[in-house]
Amino acid sequence: MARNVDPVCRLCRRENMKLFLKGERCYSPKCAFEKRNYAPGMHGKKGSFKHKESDFATQLREKQKARRIYGVQERQFRRYFRDALRVKGMTGVTLLVTLERRLDNVVYRLGIADSRAQARQLVRHGHFALNGHKHDIPSYLVDIGDTIEVRPGSRDNGYFKAIADRLGQRSLPEWLQFDEARLVGRVIGLPSRQAVDLPLNEQLIVEYYSR
Ligand code: SF4
Repeated sequence: MARNVDPVCRLCRRENMKLFLKGERCYSPKCAFEKRNYAPGMHGKKGSFKHKESDFATQLREKQKARRIYGVQERQFRRYFRDALRVKGMTGVTLLVTLERRLDNVVYRLGIADSRAQARQLVRHGHFALNGHKHDIPSYLVDIGDTIEVRPGSRDNGYFKAIADRLGQRSLPEWLQFDEARLVGRVIGLPSRQAVDLPLNEQLIVEYYSR
């Protein structure tokens, strides 16, 4: 599978905002965006954010921002958009809800991982069971009633022992439940637009793909 090999912090600088892609580091003074708040590249310092963007550029940036936050490649993202088009209702909201339902995002939202990238790696390494069965596909879309748990064999893993202190620090979205003692999460609803607490304008993304 294709993957983005650019330094992650460069993506935040490109989007001119913190995308929180690196977990704890994003909240520390080591954050690259805090130190170099200008676009990457040799002309970045000259103020590439100062000129007025065209409509196309604004739409493109919004789409890229969403893709980068959720760590989804272009082809998959476009597929999500096409699927959202077929659903009755607001396409942009359906797209965001779909992205929220990804298993790696759910693991992140439960507070088991510091970032979506880390959540994706934990899922790929087979540390989770979905409805009682091992599941290692980060792009799986969870549904109401699904349970996501750390597999018994992984609970003794140093990582999962160490996260006990950090659990509960992040507020849990209303559509998820989490039993911290047993490390079992449950999907009790589908995310609403309000539950997607990200600075994204989904309408611009719809406009980008509707050109
Ligand atoms: Fe972005 Fe986090 Fe890197 Fe800061 S540390 S630039 S928020 S990925």
